[in-house]
Amino acid sequence: MIITATKIMRTETAHRLTNYSGRCSHLHGHSYRWEVTAGAPELDERGMIIDFGDLKKAMHKVLDPWDHALILHNKDPMVIDLENQRALDLLNATNGEAARLFVYNFNPTAENLARYSLNLIKNELPLPIFLVKMRVFETESCYVDVLPRGRNDRASQVGDKDAQ
Ligand SMILES: [Zn+2]
Repeated sequence: MIITATKIMRTETAHRLTNYSGRCSHLHGHSYRWEVTAGAPELDERGMIIDFGDLKKAMHKVLDPWDHALILHNKDPMVIDLENQRALDLLNATNGEAARLFVYNFNPTAENLARYSLNLIKNELPLPIFLVKMRVFETESCYVDVLPRGRNDRASQVGDKDAQ
């Protein structure tokens, strides 16, 4: 028998894809829906896989910074202009809060964002809990699944290592 527990979270996040000719090559946003499924070999003494509150905390720590944020690939020509302080100042929130801007060494596709965040969330969970799946809806009708290769394989940092 396998018992899993899934927690869902949403973010409103902007991105732009490089090396791509479809609509996602424009700067735009998605209402991402993140579904993280955790499992454990046995239920704990409370009869749970994990406290949903703990799963929520782990997801929040990793995913909340991406809410109302812009995610770009470091190969995006826009990033070069953003190294200019004036451009960064213009991106700051109207209340003066610093820009929520993330630049990664991978194209910010749903697949890459799922893989990267899954590795970070995995490290936030206590053993023997493992992540079974990360499902990310980029739109209402499109989603990707990332399934870790090995249980509790916390040494793998797929998102960093394999990213372009
Ligand atoms: Zn997009």
